[in-house]
Amino acid sequence: MENYRTETLCVQAGYRPKNGESRIPQICQSTTFYYGDTQNMADLFDLKAEGFFYSRLANPTVEALEKKVAALENGVYGIGCASGMSAILLTAMTVCEAGDNVVCASEIYGGSYNLFSVTLPKFGIECRFFDADDSAEKIESLIDERTKFVFAETIANPAIVVLDFEKLSAVCKKHGVLFVVDNTLATPALCRPIGFGVDIVIHSTTKYMDGHAAALGGMIIDGGKFAFKNNKRYPAFNTPDESYHGLVYADLAVAFGTKCRAQMMRDTGAIMSPQNAFLTYLGSDTLALRMERTSRNAEKVAEFLNAHPKVEWVKYSSLPSDKYHATAKKYLPNGAGGMMSFGIKGSAKDCARFMESLKLVTQETHVADVRSCVLHPASTTHRQLSDEQLKDAGIAPNLVRLSVGIENVNDIIADLEQALENVSLR
Ligand code: PLP
Repeated sequence: MENYRTETLCVQAGYRPKNGESRIPQICQSTTFYYGDTQNMADLFDLKAEGFFYSRLANPTVEALEKKVAALENGVYGIGCASGMSAILLTAMTVCEAGDNVVCASEIYGGSYNLFSVTLPKFGIECRFFDADDSAEKIESLIDERTKFVFAETIANPAIVVLDFEKLSAVCKKHGVLFVVDNTLATPALCRPIGFGVDIVIHSTTKYMDGHAAALGGMIIDGGKFAFKNNKRYPAFNTPDESYHGLVYADLAVAFGTKCRAQMMRDTGAIMSPQNAFLTYLGSDTLALRMERTSRNAEKVAEFLNAHPKVEWVKYSSLPSDKYHATAKKYLPNGAGGMMSFGIKGSAKDCARFMESLKLVTQETHVADVRSCVLHPASTTHRQLSDEQLKDAGIAPNLVRLSVGIENVNDIIADLEQALENVSLR
């Protein structure tokens, strides 16, 4: 499937029926699988044969989605997880132990930031944050012999920073460190990070991959190129895993993916459900189409907002004035997705008035599906903070996060326009 283009992979990759089988994957709602002989089962446990034995580790419906996303990302192996957060956690658990550290962009999704800054340190895993605009030298200075991976997002949520892949991949290559990128908001329809030196790609499939706000899920894609063999930074990949029949993961073609599933999925059971895999598989059929429409809509919405007298600033990389415009041109040539943020000329109260005046665009904590939605962090998720505290947290009191959907763009703009009329100009 690797020679086909994205649009084709969206509808054809992942599952090919044999004669008389259903055209789309069935929901395999079974925890367990039947085998007639002991040797067959033993071979499965020894990873000598392919197949399913327990849905806590792998399941045919989940596998169809794993294969599709792996093909879309140009990776060699996929692992469907219960959520985007569990995909990030399993990735960290696969390479880190107490005493190790992770070097991470500070402009990442708030939930991921919590995982890295609060939860992982409780297990002895330190996180060292850098600013996306920091120099390669500054980022490098955070790396030591216990650094296990560097983490960033292709398009940061909600900072809307576009990742400089070249800078980070050069740092990772120089130090032999795994480069992990969360590609949720770009999706492989707009950007394929493995081609830019990334080793592991992560998704919250809950967002554009499903696209309909119907199914929670996450995905880990192994690019299959990272040199674990004899890499002193990764002793756990080069010594026998006594919990898995003495397997040495660095000897396998899919070292990271196998360790992640055989050890971490086995021990956590944080796998995607067959029902959610099915819904996400269906949703992902239209991923390329949706990303194209979402990006075109967002470009027009960003231009409208940027020219509006009641809007102070707009962050969206397709705007020539945006700080990340050149980076986006290089890595997101076909569109920058639907996520943007903008500042209303006024206070948090004016923002609340704007939000309440919207008739089509809805207030939601979710982003990145077919319907346009907004969130005003200062009056919702961060409402307990003072203006000063909001500033420290990098959230201006007048910041509105907007996720543009696939409705007719004129209807979206008309709704934003009538809602802005209710904001008094200061
Ligand atoms: N990564 C990004 C960029 C996100 O925006 C989110 C959620 O919003 C996550 C990861 C976490 O995904 P989930 O909600 O599926 O756990």
